[in-house]
Amino acid sequence: MPKETDEIPLAHGLKLIPGVKVKIAEPLARYTSMKIGGPADYFIEVETDEGLSCVLPLLHRYGTAVSLLGNGSNALISDRGVRGAVIHLVGEFRKVEWREEGETVCVRVGAAYAVTQLVRAAARKGYGGLEFAEGIPGTAGGALVMNAGAYGSEFEKVVDQVVGLTREGKTIHFNRPELTFTYRGSNLPAGTVVTRVCLRLRKEEATRVSSKVSELVAKRKSSQPSGYPNSGSMFRNPAGDFAGRLIEAAGLKGKRIGQSQISARHANFIVNLGGAKAEDVRRLMELARAEVKEQFGIELVPEVRLLGEWSAS
Ligand SMILES: Cc1cc2nc3c(=O)[nH]c(=O)nc-3n(C[C@H](O)[C@H](O)[C@H](O)COP(=O)(O)OP(=O)(O)OC[C@H]3O[C@@H](n4cnc5c(N)ncnc54)[C@H](O)[C@@H]3O)c2cc1C
Repeated sequence: MPKETDEIPLAHGLKLIPGVKVKIAEPLARYTSMKIGGPADYFIEVETDEGLSCVLPLLHRYGTAVSLLGNGSNALISDRGVRGAVIHLVGEFRKVEWREEGETVCVRVGAAYAVTQLVRAAARKGYGGLEFAEGIPGTAGGALVMNAGAYGSEFEKVVDQVVGLTREGKTIHFNRPELTFTYRGSNLPAGTVVTRVCLRLRKEEATRVSSKVSELVAKRKSSQPSGYPNSGSMFRNPAGDFAGRLIEAAGLKGKRIGQSQISARHANFIVNLGGAKAEDVRRLMELARAEVKEQFGIELVPEVRLLGEWSAS
């Protein structure tokens, strides 16, 4: 919780900024796909670029820690919540513009735009290249930061430019040659808030793009757990292997701690059976890492981002 003395001037200052909504001690579970997470000291919904360029310097001046939350589909938020400010982009950041340039298409998408909505709009228009992202329940900003990928492709392959703001509120542009990506990561300077992502797609037959999307929907449905809240893959796949295969081979498929469970369908997923605690999920992750290390000598690396205040383990 923010201290009484700090809270009043900072919260007051934030509330005076047009296009900004501030909630104090806002529980975050509802903003994540896992439906887990304690409160943010300040949960700040920002609708406009102008608003964001005022919010960031103000938080910087107060020395307030800043975390970004997109759709929370790759985030495990601690039960104790997140100290400082959690920024959630809405409004103007949910817009997209399409511009055809010869045989290609430049898509300028706001960081808060839903990836699945973007994939489907591209398919309807006959723009190819993004089909792999069907079923990734994140935002364009989260997908860029995570270099989200599936079925042999990833965001890296379609990104042309990224626009963001620094921690101090200054606008920055990154052109493709300045960007490097890793497996589920990007090299953006720490503290960058992504506001827009420019993607380069190609013009194709709309029916071909749509049928590729439908094929991947079916593939996803047949392999991933549905029905219980989750965060997708908990661990990255180690080179030449699959985290799910290793966790299953370690005998942990279906293993439960509290209300969290290693999915009986796909062992790289942890599902919330209802009212699971973040601490239980973290303990399951630690168990999976320890068993896979002991039995196969392989170090699993988490894909899911742990946000907030955690007890030392
Ligand atoms: C059912 C399911 C299936 C999934 N399948 C896949 C898959 O096939 N492939 C895959 O790669 N992922 C998959 N995921 C994981 C997840 O959807 C992706 O990583 C997604 O891109 C995360 O986007 P998000 O908006 O939810 O990000 P969040 O979880 O909100 O955030 C992820 C990280 O990005 C940062 N961030 C978010 N927005 C911004 C911003 N605007 N500026 C700066 N930093 C920001 C956050 O601080 C955090 O560190 C899946 C998840 C689920 C639940």
